[in-house]
Amino acid sequence: MPHNPSVTPLPIVAIVGRPNVGKSTLFNRIVGHRTAIVEDRARTTRDRIYGDAEWNGRRFIVVDTGGLEIHPGDPIEEKVQEQARLAIGEADLIVLVVDSIAGLTPADLEAADLLRVAKAPVLVAANKADNDKRELEAAEFFSLGWEETYPISAAHGRGVADLLDAMVWALPPESEKEIARKKRQADADEWARDMASGRLSRLGEGDDAAIEMAAEGGADLDLAFEDEDAEVSLALVGRPNVGKSSLLNALLGEDRAIVSAIPGTTRDAIDTHLTWGRSEIVIIDTAGIKRPGKVAGGPPAERYSTMRALKAVERADVAVLVIDAFEGLTAQDAHVAGFVAEEGRGLVIALNKWDLLAEKTDRTFDEYVTSMRREVPFLDFAPFLSISAKTGQRVGRVLELAVDVWGERRKRIATPELNRVVRAAQLRQAPPAGKLGPPKIFYATQVAVAPPTFVFFARHAAGVHFSYKRFLENQLRDEFGFDGTPIRLIFRERASGRIGNNPGRARGGSGAVLKRSMGATPGGVRAVRKGTSGSKRSVGGKRNPQR
Ligand code: GDP
Ligand code: GDP
Repeated sequence: MPHNPSVTPLPIVAIVGRPNVGKSTLFNRIVGHRTAIVEDRARTTRDRIYGDAEWNGRRFIVVDTGGLEIHPGDPIEEKVQEQARLAIGEADLIVLVVDSIAGLTPADLEAADLLRVAKAPVLVAANKADNDKRELEAAEFFSLGWEETYPISAAHGRGVADLLDAMVWALPPESEKEIARKKRQADADEWARDMASGRLSRLGEGDDAAIEMAAEGGADLDLAFEDEDAEVSLALVGRPNVGKSSLLNALLGEDRAIVSAIPGTTRDAIDTHLTWGRSEIVIIDTAGIKRPGKVAGGPPAERYSTMRALKAVERADVAVLVIDAFEGLTAQDAHVAGFVAEEGRGLVIALNKWDLLAEKTDRTFDEYVTSMRREVPFLDFAPFLSISAKTGQRVGRVLELAVDVWGERRKRIATPELNRVVRAAQLRQAPPAGKLGPPKIFYATQVAVAPPTFVFFARHAAGVHFSYKRFLENQLRDEFGFDGTPIRLIFRERASGRIGNNPGRARGGSGAVLKRSMGATPGGVRAVRKGTSGSKRSVGGKRNPQR
């Protein structure tokens, strides 16, 4: 019987407050430079709502609840109520932002009243305290009753560090999983640093011997790797009424063995285990998916909390974003999908209610997908699938695809193979010159799986243009697949291709991450498990038609 994976999501910090107090300014300041790859690509989506943050070595997710409002036209009071309810339900820490220029308003008082019942700690941020005088005036907000009231200026950064200190202090204690994850990242970083400073040899065009030599020292390292025997964990996410619970029920139909439904680690999160072919699958937090007929009515935000979905995504390997094919993709969908991509999780997009589309031809699906991809180009790695949870059409393919994507996330590319592709790509198209001159990539190596992460050592690494990174990513995808998973490309500066010969250096001391792995297949893709094998394959058959 499969064990409970007991994975822990990152804690969620919810920023609440009435409009114009500076929530998104504070959000941007906290998330700041960590704004990820997705942002570069997601020119079509609006402002971010979720962000990954880190302070004093602690990672957490920040949510700007202002962006979660479902009816933007609502009066202020209702907006604040909706935010507060979301935060109370799902956040591990709540930051109530108020405006020290405007002073206390009735909407602030109402938000405060609602938040008093929250189990999560509440901190008050009295924003716009841009100078000493206003900072003193901000004292009036102590009357809301929270001792932890911090005058800040989100716009200028004043006081934000103290607020962040208090936030990290108030978060629930760090779990072992979080600590382990941090260690893995630190190890991978250290390794990459060692590589950069240690033992690369000159790699020029056609210099196969040098590549082989470098590969010998650096290629077959065991990478930052999570438990290999873990189940395939899926999160079903999507807006209310798109058919998540119908899909869940269809997936759990009689012919599947439901192994168990045991409480997960978060507040009343229930994970459902099942077997699919040779794979063991766990669907994360099925309690967050209301069963049909069970909960009727109520505001949509209560019926299905986006924050809850975020937590599920955090714990999952692969997210299945369920979309109502009739309604198409909304901004909220794009936000959640963007979060999935940023977190490096796998993504499958299921167009449900396909049975409702009238007059389908054999081109309908392709046309539909092409137009969707135009809307969300940053999701071009994700396979689409049309299903009907109602009739059961292709619901089995959801699991099949998810297991495939799981495998793609764990693919490892041997260093010589990788460098052949990178070299060929550079020959086909050299990186355009930046301010400093033309960048030159000397060497690339995969440093992690899930998501596959590659470090490129280059001269003028900072000058490698975004579009060139896209080009390289496309070359890697064309060659190796990686369907359904984001991949990460990291560029590190190297002054030249030549360094001393010091093969022992790279493996020094970093335990699990750097231990030599057994049985790497030379010159190719390493096998992944459960029949989701190997090299170039395309999941969904319709990969990236717009390319
Ligand atoms: P939200 O609606 O709560 O997300 O508020 P915004 O972050 O959009 O900010 C509302 C307005 O307040 C904007 O014009 C900001 O420039 C301004 N603002 C935000 N933070 C500060 C601050 O620390 N000081 C001052 N003076 N203005 C700020
Ligand atoms: P959830 O809120 O995402 O869990 O959505 P539900 O599973 O409760 O489905 C919402 C409504 O859509 C229900 O009335 C379902 O019967 C209906 N529905 C779900 N899947 C399909 C489908 O594939 N086709 C059609 N025609 N209706 C569906």
